[in-house]
Amino acid sequence: MPVEFKKFVTIRLYGNLNDFLPSSVKQKEQRVGFWGKPAVKDLIESLGVPHVEIFLILVDGLPVNFSFRPAEGSLISCYPKFSSISISSIALRPNFEVPPRFVLDVHLGRLAAYLRFCGFDTLYDKSYTDNNILDIALADGRVILTRDKGILRNGKALYGYFLRNTNPQLQLSEVVEYFDLAAYLEPFSRCSLCNGEVVQVEKSVVENQVPRTTFQIYNDFFQCSSCGQIYWEGPHFNRIAAMISGYSK
Ligand SMILES: [Zn+2]
Repeated sequence: MPVEFKKFVTIRLYGNLNDFLPSSVKQKEQRVGFWGKPAVKDLIESLGVPHVEIFLILVDGLPVNFSFRPAEGSLISCYPKFSSISISSIALRPNFEVPPRFVLDVHLGRLAAYLRFCGFDTLYDKSYTDNNILDIALADGRVILTRDKGILRNGKALYGYFLRNTNPQLQLSEVVEYFDLAAYLEPFSRCSLCNGEVVQVEKSVVENQVPRTTFQIYNDFFQCSSCGQIYWEGPHFNRIAAMISGYSK
């Protein structure tokens, strides 16, 4: 039997929050029906928008928090992260640190490696559960990156971002753009395997730890201070460096 709502609000999403809507209703006011007295967070999330991407909600022109219960007929305006306007006094969450530190969900191994390669502190482990990810993010002030809206809708999630792309290279450029990271790129400063810090080492240190031809061809070697992995500026480095060079300002 179709549900007949007796009460409605009007919701308008701004900016990239429209990514979560079908194209027929993007950038438009939507009439949303409800029962009882739901919190504004639930009304907005019923449209598929995870609350972590919302930085300001106005109900009939006034800023409210997520637990506010709008009256029938209210006009609800939802805004994403602002890049050029400071809304710190009325924002729904404090600003995340810059550059942010990340925790990734279990399907994002390639993106984790790319972010680490770019120098960003990125936790990732295939064995993480959703709860592990939420707890780490909360305890450590990390931003959750995921393709799973379920994690981002959890009330414990404070900072998060739903990746629009599925291709890891496009995901990297999406993250660099959304979090405005171009000025913070530090290629080769972090281990893509374990997130440890990578430092330059004397060539003699790695003599018996890399293939003979590699040792002969290259002069600059780097080593992870946590797991000992050795890096050098070979073809793999050049390929990823070329991929991210477009982001540098
Ligand atoms: Zn390492």
